[in-house]
Amino acid sequence: MTIIIIKVIMLPTQIPNWIGTQEQPTQANEWFDKLNPANGQVLFKVARSRQADIKQAIEAAKKAQPSWADTPAVQRGMILHKIVVGMQNRQSDIAAIVAAETGKSMKEALGETGGAIQCGLFYASEGQRLYGRTTTSGTANKYAMTIRQPIGVAGLIIAANTPIANVAWKVFPALICGNAAILKAAEDTPATAWIFGQIAKEAGLPDGVLSIMQGFGEEAGAPLVAHQDVGVISFTGSTEVGRIINRSAGERFARISLELGGKNPLVVCDDADLENAVKWVLLSAFSNAGQRCASTSRIIIFESVYEKFRDMLVEKTKKLKVGITDDCDFGAVINEGQLLGMVSAVEKAKKNGATILCGGERMTDAEHKDGYYMAPTLIENVDPHDEISECELFGPVALLFKVKDFEHALQMANDTPYGLTASIHTQSIHRATRFYDKVQTGVAVVNAGTHGSEPHMPFGGRKLSGNGSREPGTEALNIYSELKDVYINIDPTQV
Ligand code: NAD
Repeated sequence: MTIIIIKVIMLPTQIPNWIGTQEQPTQANEWFDKLNPANGQVLFKVARSRQADIKQAIEAAKKAQPSWADTPAVQRGMILHKIVVGMQNRQSDIAAIVAAETGKSMKEALGETGGAIQCGLFYASEGQRLYGRTTTSGTANKYAMTIRQPIGVAGLIIAANTPIANVAWKVFPALICGNAAILKAAEDTPATAWIFGQIAKEAGLPDGVLSIMQGFGEEAGAPLVAHQDVGVISFTGSTEVGRIINRSAGERFARISLELGGKNPLVVCDDADLENAVKWVLLSAFSNAGQRCASTSRIIIFESVYEKFRDMLVEKTKKLKVGITDDCDFGAVINEGQLLGMVSAVEKAKKNGATILCGGERMTDAEHKDGYYMAPTLIENVDPHDEISECELFGPVALLFKVKDFEHALQMANDTPYGLTASIHTQSIHRATRFYDKVQTGVAVVNAGTHGSEPHMPFGGRKLSGNGSREPGTEALNIYSELKDVYINIDPTQV
């Protein structure tokens, strides 16, 4: 087989599917090109799966699942732990692939891989704690409890932004609960999912328990979502696609978990530590090139500190370094379509009267012109209901809004179709408490950035950011398992 070399790791020139522990091309032998976001060059070809390939993976999963379910959860956890050890041993290989596929630095990719490992460790140990509940009964000699059971086949569909974390967030909880899983990798990050499949095989995961399918959403994702034998669909991606998935899987009453987009506010009060707030805005708005569901995209500032804060922020933003080396603050966006969409949204806002404080354009200097780089962008003078204020751009673009006081800030923070994360910067416990109490999001943060959850904590959004499900944490176990009530009646006269 021909191989190509990315940093230290050797990859096949074609990324196939894993159907169970077998690497396979698609039945029609179709492939598509995966481009490097840092320079626009072809990295490798990727299997273009269609319905027939998905059906094959579902058949393999159905065959493998009963004996996986019969494997004690503690032993399932031990196999997952071997996968985690494999990830630890190959952390730099995984990170090299993540960096190459996403156009981010190796440093950032290593950090993300560390997070995925932490998530795996958490769920491997959950094999020892798949708790049900024992309780009382209203009837004499009757005993009541709940037990957790697998659902069957889990269909997992993920976005490309933090690819190895996204794989771990779904595969580990699905498997520890005794399901067989089919992961539809993001078309922009196929090799990250592929190497996870290889590590899972090396760790001894039984054949058929995990399949990793490559391809596009409508061709490979939609048949997985629609298939009646896939009992649970867990999706991380845009609200637009989440709506389609909700309709398709909802029609057949599948369990559905939707982790969707955000338009996350960060409030800067007049009593905030402005240096600290600037630091967190820079990280929250621009890290990972703003491609985080939890990214800060609306900065809501008290009018009495507006000019001062804006000037401090603009000055620091202009100094951010964009590129793929470890000293850079962020890298490329994932593909050219994403970049062009953002540039045109900014252009439209400009025509409508917005002021571009910095950035606003594709970077076209010699170092960046071949890749998909967006300059860090800050915008003011937009209406909270303008298109750019309400739509998620998923890039390094943030808007500044001026407010009178706390109540105005809270009202604006909540005046959005989304409800994923929010942050407030204040020295006042009264403001901080009222904010986390009243803000309509799944995560609220005081005096730091807008961010996702740690692996042992539940994450999810309100309104258009999700359907109320929460992953990861132990809450994810409720997505991937069925609770069954068990009642035991005894006859004490027979003792
Ligand atoms: P996307 O919705 O375009 O794609 C996500 C995945 O869905 C991909 O694997 C894609 O192939 C698949 N898909 C597309 N159409 C499909 C269909 N009809 N049926 C089944 N699958 C289909 O999202 P994206 O642009 O890749 O990712 C960015 C989005 O993801 C942003 O909105 C971001 O906020 C969101 N996101 C949310 C979270 C969260 O936890 N809430 C985390 C990361 C990203």
